[in-house]
Amino acid sequence: MRGVLHRYGTNLRLTERTPLLSLGEGSTPLVACRNLGGELGIELFAKYEGLNPTGSFKDRGMVLAVAKALEAGSRAVVCASTGNTSASAAAYAATAGIPCHVLLPAGKVALGKLAQALIYGAKVIAVRGNFDTALDLARDASRRLGLAIVNSVNPYRLRGQRSAAWEICDDLGDAPDWLAIPVGNAGNITAYWAGFVQYARSGKASRIPRMMGFQAEGASPMVRGEDVPQPETVATAIRIGRPVNARKARWAVRRSGGAFAAVSDPEILEAQRILASREGLFAEPASAAPLAGLLALARRNELPRGIRVVMVLTGNGLKDPDAALGKTPAITEIDGNWSSLEEVFRS
Ligand SMILES: *Cc1c(COP(=O)(O)O)cnc(C)c1O
Repeated sequence: MRGVLHRYGTNLRLTERTPLLSLGEGSTPLVACRNLGGELGIELFAKYEGLNPTGSFKDRGMVLAVAKALEAGSRAVVCASTGNTSASAAAYAATAGIPCHVLLPAGKVALGKLAQALIYGAKVIAVRGNFDTALDLARDASRRLGLAIVNSVNPYRLRGQRSAAWEICDDLGDAPDWLAIPVGNAGNITAYWAGFVQYARSGKASRIPRMMGFQAEGASPMVRGEDVPQPETVATAIRIGRPVNARKARWAVRRSGGAFAAVSDPEILEAQRILASREGLFAEPASAAPLAGLLALARRNELPRGIRVVMVLTGNGLKDPDAALGKTPAITEIDGNWSSLEEVFRS
């Protein structure tokens, strides 16, 4: 099974002692969204990251972080997580054969993600507090107990995540005009930017896209310019009030001529439904924030016509069925005979 380390190892500065772990991560489809693109007057693509082995882009950086932890002789990994990092860390620790400890904000993790961490065999600890508190504790555990921390404070995470930008350029033959991406801890937007810069420098892309970062209104420190002590949003993957990579992300967005913007929870859930019902793409709520943002820009006539936009669908919709079910129409139940069914088709 070939993954990110095989495909892009030369860009990732592996050594001959780096174990080539792989669950087949990366090489995700870049799907042309013709229905929505046509409506918005742009050329729209979705980078379908929910198709990674644990259902989110986190796998791209996790494979490198865990491989490097093994190379350095670490005996266990630890992370704090809103859900997807823990699922990914647990899976790669499993294939690497080392223990994984995950700290989650109690009661605030989507059910599918919790199930993943548990079935992959992680030791799951629920912290009464939000993600930011859990991360402080994970850092303490790393420092005091010598565990490898695999949150995006780990530089290998962001380096591995650059591979998504490389794949987009390799698929399109160049970088797009805009990259639209959800922002939580602000690591992924930073990684994409660094990936595009690396490709532009090596002559494999002619430009660097405008980096457009979208947050949920109730958890939008990058938009407000200050920490949010009690972040709240249905998009649990980006329910973060104190982004670890805020400074780097601000730099990346400014240098690229991009922007941060906030979208409301109802806009996010509506965008999630539109994405699934118009394009056949099921993404978790956080991943729908970019489409919600593009729709809002279009309503205000602030979306330039004809540009090529890639939106990053960061996580799979199946991880959080509860969020999706709130918006779907009721199911019709019938007796098991033809006349009952006929009645449904007639009405
Ligand atoms: C982690 C995550 C994000 C946020 O990425 P950051 O690097 O923290 O900004 C967005 N969407 C999903 C589905 C995620 O798992």
